[in-house]
Amino acid sequence: MAAQRKRSQATDSGDSANLIGRAIADPVDLRRRLAAWYARAKRDLPWRRSRDPYRVWVSEIMLQQTQVERVKDFFIRFMNRFPSVQDLAAANEQAVLKHWEGLGYYRRARQLHAASKAIVAEHGGEFPRTVAGLMELPGIGRYTAGAIASIALDLPAPIVEANSRRVIARLAGHDKPVGGTGDEPIWALASMLVPRKGAGMFNQALMDLGAMVCTPTRPLCDRCPVAVSCAARREGRVDEIPVIVAARATKRLRERAIVLRHGDRVLVAQRGKGEWWEGLWDFPREPVGTAAGGKSKGRSLGRVTYTVTHHRIECMVVERRARVPAKAVARQRWVKVTALAALAMTAPGRQIVGLLVATEGRPGPRFDRE
Ligand code: SF4
Repeated sequence: MAAQRKRSQATDSGDSANLIGRAIADPVDLRRRLAAWYARAKRDLPWRRSRDPYRVWVSEIMLQQTQVERVKDFFIRFMNRFPSVQDLAAANEQAVLKHWEGLGYYRRARQLHAASKAIVAEHGGEFPRTVAGLMELPGIGRYTAGAIASIALDLPAPIVEANSRRVIARLAGHDKPVGGTGDEPIWALASMLVPRKGAGMFNQALMDLGAMVCTPTRPLCDRCPVAVSCAARREGRVDEIPVIVAARATKRLRERAIVLRHGDRVLVAQRGKGEWWEGLWDFPREPVGTAAGGKSKGRSLGRVTYTVTHHRIECMVVERRARVPAKAVARQRWVKVTALAALAMTAPGRQIVGLLVATEGRPGPRFDRE
């Protein structure tokens, strides 16, 4: 067993060494070409106007799983409301979640908030100045720590994310699956490539090259500043690299949301610990098929669909009138319809509010057909 593990480790390090040897005949030349291209082509992004580690950190957390164009406005609004790590640490969680609303993956916001408190309480409001120190903060992994360390602190730290992974894999002609542990050879190569000075610029240039030139499909190899160093191009395998393992199959689910109403108020429920959208507000749910005949009493407001991780969920929305307001139990609250806009709500919750407002005063079918 030990011998087998040893053999496997030897193969792994051998793979990395081969990868590095094949790709980087002249790393100095590659860095120089990339720097010249970046100086004239870099993207003008709001978080790049300063090297403040707080701004770099917030932008990197927002950019995880969210497109750059979508992040821009959220970033500006967030910075206006929480301009420093101290402001973020002093805010209450609902205010932070409210400013995150629409970005999704709210765990990121909660961890950002928790890390800001740790930076203020344990580090005197200053960011740790090492990758290892940064990685001890909630929600900061290897990539985010590398980005803060290189961009804000000018430390020679590598980064690997979707764009730079693709560029490096193609440069190296790396035809093994990437992602998870498959990224280890890419990290090894990124560590070797990153310069001792100007690491932040180099890392951002790699990401921009991946976003603008070395795109997932139809990369612009004819205009690529590092084409002379690219093994995938040389070998005619650009379309085959990187090798991505197929994502998990989508699972379809159905549910029913109940808009329980008394006068101008509706009952909302806060998502509990461990649930999707923990801490955010939404409308209570009941499983589909529990009502007689699979139908639900009430007025149909329509349906919303949404995706969470690999789940595609279809949600029927039913409005019911309460003669007397049911007692709101823990994590429930009666809220005026006009006050829903101020609540930090889940994405489907916000869609349901849209349906509620759009159908206000309009008769709907008595039963939701399911
Ligand atoms: Fe990407 Fe093409 Fe440049 Fe290679 S030559 S790094 S595949 S854009």
